[in-house]
Amino acid sequence: MSKNIFLAGIYHETHTFLGEPTKLKDFIVYHDQEIIIENTGNGSPTDGFIEYASQKDWNIIPGIQMSARPSGTVDEVSENYFKENIFDKLKVCCHTIDAIFLVLHGAMVSKNHDDFEGDLLKEIQGFLTKENLSVPIVAVLDLHANVSENMIKHSTCVFAYRKNPHSDARETAVKAASILNDLFLDAKVEQIHLGTNYILPATGVGTANDPMKAILEEALKIEKNDPEIICINVMAGYSYADIPDCGFSLNCCTRGDISNAKKYLDNLFKILEAKIESGYPKENSLDEALTKINNIEEITKPVLLIEPADNIGGGTPGDATDLLDRLLQANNKGIVAIINDPESANACHRAQINEEIQLYIGAKFDVFHGKPIFIKAKLEKISDGTFELENKQSHLASMMGTKISMGPSAVIKNDQVTLLITSIKTPPMDLGQLTSQGINPRDAKLIIIKAAVSHKDAYDPIASQSFYIDSQGLCTSNLKRLPFKKIGNKIISLD
Ligand SMILES: [Zn+2]
Repeated sequence: MSKNIFLAGIYHETHTFLGEPTKLKDFIVYHDQEIIIENTGNGSPTDGFIEYASQKDWNIIPGIQMSARPSGTVDEVSENYFKENIFDKLKVCCHTIDAIFLVLHGAMVSKNHDDFEGDLLKEIQGFLTKENLSVPIVAVLDLHANVSENMIKHSTCVFAYRKNPHSDARETAVKAASILNDLFLDAKVEQIHLGTNYILPATGVGTANDPMKAILEEALKIEKNDPEIICINVMAGYSYADIPDCGFSLNCCTRGDISNAKKYLDNLFKILEAKIESGYPKENSLDEALTKINNIEEITKPVLLIEPADNIGGGTPGDATDLLDRLLQANNKGIVAIINDPESANACHRAQINEEIQLYIGAKFDVFHGKPIFIKAKLEKISDGTFELENKQSHLASMMGTKISMGPSAVIKNDQVTLLITSIKTPPMDLGQLTSQGINPRDAKLIIIKAAVSHKDAYDPIASQSFYIDSQGLCTSNLKRLPFKKIGNKIISLD
């Protein structure tokens, strides 16, 4: 008999140190059938679920899906909007559904919920109990989720991405759906959660490097060798959230003895402790970076200058100027950079192509990302800023599908820099962002990248080397610079 699956999702990674809240207008909201229409074929986790469901002939009952780019704490209007809608829809269909499938991020903080997803799952379970119902709840999580005890206690199984950059987001949802399929045959499973004291910066949790690499390899071995283990999730956590559940955690879903699962997690935790130094990588100061660039004899392939402090994928505004300013002052040439600055993009749209324009660029969002810098350059191109991903498995697809909007955009150029100016901050996770605007990143000498890890699939293959640079911004890897209040005695640095 065909199964009825209620499908909903909310996707937001919340940077609680940013002053500006995330509002309803910042979310892309889909209701009912829109969820199916808009996600089919877009490379997102929801797309993966839709495909699996159609193969199994499941009947999807779509509820609501909301997603926004990483940014500040989600406001009350948005949290209420999601909850009212999901429960209104559940009330109508709950007695006909066989399961609930949720596509979540797992690091959302809203005005009234430090642990939005944990509280949501608890409310859903409470609702089902009141209606005298018991159906499996399976959820997809981002690897950066700050997982809480409530998320594990009130779900049947969570399944998280294993790759960072997240090239496996869609595939993760397919696997989660197959776990749900198994649950229809045998519903008896148990989950266990192991929180830890470690909060790792975004730069320390790429899966090509330890500690994540070593822990994931071991987790995979356990999954392979023990048929009772359904999954082990190695959760990197998201460090820019001042909440009690912030940080690295592990969880396991098993058909076997829960004490066995606990032993596995304890052993994985030991690997984390053994490799912990790699979780807090060192960065170059601006001066060190400039010296290193100067010492390169000849640049034949681009050098990446990674600026994690303004990691757009981590929530910062993408308008930090610290690094660009220093490069310009030091007379560097062949620079390609992207700055999010709606005001300057707008000014470009009012000018003529080939006109020489003068702008104060960047650092307009808040006081934490440098000062606007004066630039005189020729206007090369204006556009509506939309582009298709070159790599459909890009990390960006996990966040927003394969068709991306940067808002009204412009390209300006002088003898030092080619600058793409956007109106909607867009993480540098796919080369299509530049090539669609007529910029060939392969021709650059120096490319400024506002990211921590998520750029790697796109940019590492075209680069000769990369330097991580400790500049100014709220996604700093130096977590001691952030005013944490709610994390208790967690470890944010090894110094
Ligand atoms: Zn992530």
